[in-house]
Amino acid sequence: LIQLYMPLNFMGMIYREIKQSLIDIDDMFRILERNPEIEDRPGAPDLAVKAGEVRFEDVHFAYTPARPILKGVSFTVPAGHTVAIVGPSGAGKSTISRLLFRFYEPQSGRILIDGQDMAGVAQASLRAALGMVPQDTVLFNDTIGYNIRYGRWDASEDEVREAARLAQIDGFIEALPEGYDTPVGERGLKLSGGEKQRVAIARTILKGPPILVLDEATSALDSFTEREIQDALERVSRGRTTLVIAHRLSTIVSADEIIVLDRGRIVERGTHEALLASDGTYAAMWDRQRRAAEARETLHETEAAE
Ligand code: ATP
Repeated sequence: LIQLYMPLNFMGMIYREIKQSLIDIDDMFRILERNPEIEDRPGAPDLAVKAGEVRFEDVHFAYTPARPILKGVSFTVPAGHTVAIVGPSGAGKSTISRLLFRFYEPQSGRILIDGQDMAGVAQASLRAALGMVPQDTVLFNDTIGYNIRYGRWDASEDEVREAARLAQIDGFIEALPEGYDTPVGERGLKLSGGEKQRVAIARTILKGPPILVLDEATSALDSFTEREIQDALERVSRGRTTLVIAHRLSTIVSADEIIVLDRGRIVERGTHEALLASDGTYAAMWDRQRRAAEARETLHETEAAE
C-alpha cells in the first residue's frame, strides 16, 4: 500500500503546487522543472508588495559547485523603473531571472522585493507578484480567447479585448473568421513567433503584476513586427518595475539603467548615452549590432533591386 501511497501523495503535492501557483502555462512548466529542494519555510509569510522595488545584493550563484555563474551581482530596479541586462551569450542573464522567480536560490547574497528577502516568503505569493513575457510562449490547444484569458480567469470579455488591443493583437484576431473563438496551438491555427509573443503580452496585461520580466526573443523579427512588439511591451511595462533580459540593444535605448554582464560580473552600467560616451564594452556591442543591421538592410535592398 505504501508503494501506491507514495506516488499518489507526490502527485497530490504537485497538483496542489500547480493549483496554488498556476498563473500561466509558463509558470506551470517552471514549477515542474523547478528544483524540489526549494521549499517554503514553515509558516513563511506572503510577500507584501508595496511599490515593487527589486534589489540584488552581492548575489553569488552556481548551478554546480565547480562552475560559478554569478560572482557578486548587485543592482536595484527602483519601483516602476526599467533596468535592462545585456551581455554575451552565457554571461548569466537568464540565470538572474530564474533567481528572481526563485527557481534557484543564491549561495550567498540576497534578493529583496520591497525590502523583504525572497528566501523567507511563500513562493506562491512571490510568483503572483511577478509576470514574465518569455522568449517562447507555449499555447494551449484551445481558442485564442482562452489563451489570453489564461492571464486572469475572471476577466470579462471587454477586459480580454482591451488586453488584446493594448498588446496590438486585436486587429489580427478580429480579421479571423472565428475571431476570439479561433482554435490555436498544435491542432489549430499556427501563430508566428511575433503573434505568440503578443498573446503572451495580452495575458500579462490581464494578470497585471507589479513586477515584470521581459525575456526578449533572440530570433530576429522583421522590423515592422519588432516595432509593434516593442510598442506593446512599452505599454505593458509602463508604471511597472521591469527587468529586461535583452538580446537586441535597439529595444533598450530608453531603459533607466543598462547593466552589462560578462562572465557573471557587472562590467559596466549606466544609461544608453552614458555607456556610448564611455566607449567600452557596451559601445562596442552597439557598434557591432548597428553594422549587422546595416548589412542586413543593404542585403534586402540588393535583393529587392534584383
Ligand atoms: P544567452 O544570451 O545565450 O541566453 P545567458 O546570459 O542568459 O545566455 P544563462 O542562461 O544565464 O546565460 O547561462 C549562464 C551559464 O549557466 C551558461 O554557461 C549555461 O551553460 C549555464 N547554465 C544555465 N542553466 C544551467 C543549468 N540548469 N544547469 C547547469 N548550468 C546551467
